[in-house]
Amino acid sequence: METISEKGIRASFVNASRREAAQLPIPKGLDKTDWENTDFLAWNDPRNGQRSYAVVPVADRVVGMVLTTAQTGSKQAMCSWCEDIIETSDVKMFSAKLAGAAGRKGNTVGTMIHDGFDCPRFARRMPTPQEGGDPEQFVATRVAKLRANAGSFAERVAGLR
Ligand SMILES: [Zn+2]
Repeated sequence: METISEKGIRASFVNASRREAAQLPIPKGLDKTDWENTDFLAWNDPRNGQRSYAVVPVADRVVGMVLTTAQTGSKQAMCSWCEDIIETSDVKMFSAKLAGAAGRKGNTVGTMIHDGFDCPRFARRMPTPQEGGDPEQFVATRVAKLRANAGSFAERVAGLR
């Protein structure tokens, strides 16, 4: 994704109040991010175990979202973002309040995501012998899929689709 500053992150949030966006914790080491290999930014709130944040590039902008989870432990499931068939532990149900009037009425959208948001790393793993094929092509396809899945979720939250 393109480099984004703290200011850009705060301005990207579509389902947070201005006050929430101004106060939310920014991920540590932002200036050391390898942007080329970063499909999206996502991090847990260190002060609130039920709250996380994601900033996802879509067509010509980035969409920041507050994610909440009611789940205390994680469970075995397929992550809807990276769709990895090997890393199926530590997946949690997250929900995001929709942007604007729909969100103010209490409408949310949910998705299963890896709790630590390590999807970019999982999508870049080498294929297993069963999966086979050209490793470079395998990774490229999976990274594209991850970006599309995260992007389409972000567009739903932002009301862009
Ligand atoms: Zn994942």
